Amino acid sequence: GFRMGIVGLPNVGKSTLFNALTRTAAAQAANFPFCTIEPNVGEVAVPDTRLYTLAGIAKSANIIPTRMTFVDIAGLVKGASKGEGLGNQFLANIREVDAIAHVLRCFEDEDVTHVDGRVDPVSDAETIETELIIADMESLEKRLQNISRKVRGGDKEAVQQERLMKAALAKLEEGQPARMVEVEPDDRKAWNMLQLLSSKPVLYVCNVDEAEAATGNALSEKVAKMADEQGNAHVVISAKIEEEISQLEADEAEMFLSELGLEEAGLDRLIKAGYDLLNLETYFTVGPKEARAWTIPRGTLAPQAAGVIHGDFEKGFIRAETVAYDDFVACQGEQGAKEAGKMRAEGKTYEVKDGDVLHFLFNT
Ligand code: GDP
Repeated sequence: GFRMGIVGLPNVGKSTLFNALTRTAAAQAANFPFCTIEPNVGEVAVPDTRLYTLAGIAKSANIIPTRMTFVDIAGLVKGASKGEGLGNQFLANIREVDAIAHVLRCFEDEDVTHVDGRVDPVSDAETIETELIIADMESLEKRLQNISRKVRGGDKEAVQQERLMKAALAKLEEGQPARMVEVEPDDRKAWNMLQLLSSKPVLYVCNVDEAEAATGNALSEKVAKMADEQGNAHVVISAKIEEEISQLEADEAEMFLSELGLEEAGLDRLIKAGYDLLNLETYFTVGPKEARAWTIPRGTLAPQAAGVIHGDFEKGFIRAETVAYDDFVACQGEQGAKEAGKMRAEGKTYEVKDGDVLHFLFNT
């Protein structure tokens, strides 16, 4: 599955947010297999009302949303790249996530100490990015030394890796994150294998006070501007509100949200933004037994999409009977779609579209 790491300086609201996320997920556990793998790792359902619509039409007995994993990565402080705080442990944790949700303190509260004695989310963002950049530089310098013998021996892969490492290092030395390096499609795979911390996509989470959750504030606006300039994403949420919501029943939560002028829980927006940031899409499998959502990267071909369900589906792939979500709804199900000529037989080169309802045929 896809993993988002929650990072941020101490006292910005990471734990409050993470606990709200997992408590909300636990409360929904009746509806989907939820598990807390470790104290700091939680799986949450990706909210998608389409799944419930499809299940209603097909009278599915079970509804299984697709999931995203959140990892609470505590311990980042200035100097982490030099082993301060939880230092190396922290950096190892970041290597294992697909994207970073960076929580920034955008609330004023004299009772909550800021590590640097002032509330400045843009500067906080820079502090963390600098740590990631330094950690990447150090790891690259070591790796470049180690790889040089292989390069001299004419190892093709090593030559490619060295070229990418040097491009990354040049960028980092300018004080820029590795994600600013333009990578050719042919280099993508080797680039990802470098696992550079500062190459991960970032979603800034502006943690604002309850009263400002609907509107944002001057601090979150600064973050929004920075995110736009960097090509990163941002969401405004109030960890305190999410904490309160996580303790309410669904209908109470809805009332509470509308009183605050919010259409959707911040957590839902956070998960969706993470999904977008990672360029992910959803397809569905729908039948009387279950309606289920599956996650794929945008542009995935039908056999690989089938492989998300089971490796055998990919190996023995024959075709995918495909109905677009809107057609499935308009025709009130698979049978209706078939009769209306809206069911397509798609082959190995079909690029699955967000919302497709798929039925795979495969050889065993
Ligand atoms: P972490 O160190 O980043 O995990 O931060 P915590 O989640 O433990 O939060 C630190 C403190 O800030 C706690 O006392 C929270 O209750 C408080 N806090 C978190 N979010 C907000 C907020 O939006 N407004 C206010 N006033 N306090 C908050």
